[in-house]
Amino acid sequence: MAKTTVVRTGSSAKGAKAKAVVGAKARAIAASEPVAAKKRAGKTQKPLDPARVAAILDALRKTYPGVVCALTHKNAWELTVATILSAQCTDIRVNLVTPALFKAFPNPKAMASASLPELEELIRTTGFFRNKAKSIQGAARLVTEEFGGKVPQTMEEILRLPGVARKTGNVVLGSWYGIAVGVVVDTHVMRLSRRLELTKETAPEKVERDLMKILPQDRWIAFSHELIHHGRQICIARKPRCVDCTLERLCNSSDKTWSSH
Ligand code: SF4
Repeated sequence: MAKTTVVRTGSSAKGAKAKAVVGAKARAIAASEPVAAKKRAGKTQKPLDPARVAAILDALRKTYPGVVCALTHKNAWELTVATILSAQCTDIRVNLVTPALFKAFPNPKAMASASLPELEELIRTTGFFRNKAKSIQGAARLVTEEFGGKVPQTMEEILRLPGVARKTGNVVLGSWYGIAVGVVVDTHVMRLSRRLELTKETAPEKVERDLMKILPQDRWIAFSHELIHHGRQICIARKPRCVDCTLERLCNSSDKTWSSH
């Protein structure tokens, strides 16, 4: 099945024009990538072929050059708190909440002495605010008392902070410290990795393990950022915008909405 029309969902002429530009750029990048041969929809012949994986990385890098974490932060501590708050919540919502939170409690020491009701009130709109308030207060205390006010730089230590699991650890170590000890697996990375047949797993730790096996370590940090952006803008959960996707020729997902091959 091959179509050449661009799907436009924006209502304004400006939005439609911007999408057409994105689509044109995406197709130009896609056209330079090889086609991943398939046995049938949803089944690529050699999904983990190093040449295919390299082409996926290549297309992502070209599409999202210099992409960074979408959570607003000025230091490792702010990124830790923002990532804890981002559980079951959008980055946009977190970015609306954190300016007032960090103005009231600008560092771990100040947050360690904040009362839970004060913290709860400031983060209420991020959901699960009681648990999150306990986590950020507990993390602030541990960082202040055991780590000299600085977020630790090893996975083993950072996992000791309340509310911090491997995903948050990877976000902070990767995005702030530039230390690649793993791959951030959020809902977008999980969905796209499965659509691209880079993993068959559904548990985040197992998906991460699979990705660490096939991706070069120097791409672990950027790969997650790129996939998260791609998942938000193009490869959306319900109706992926395959016609505007730079990975289209490499993707044989059974729920594609458009295919050139
Ligand atoms: S499902 Fe569609 S949007 Fe997602 S990666 Fe495949 S071609 Fe791209």
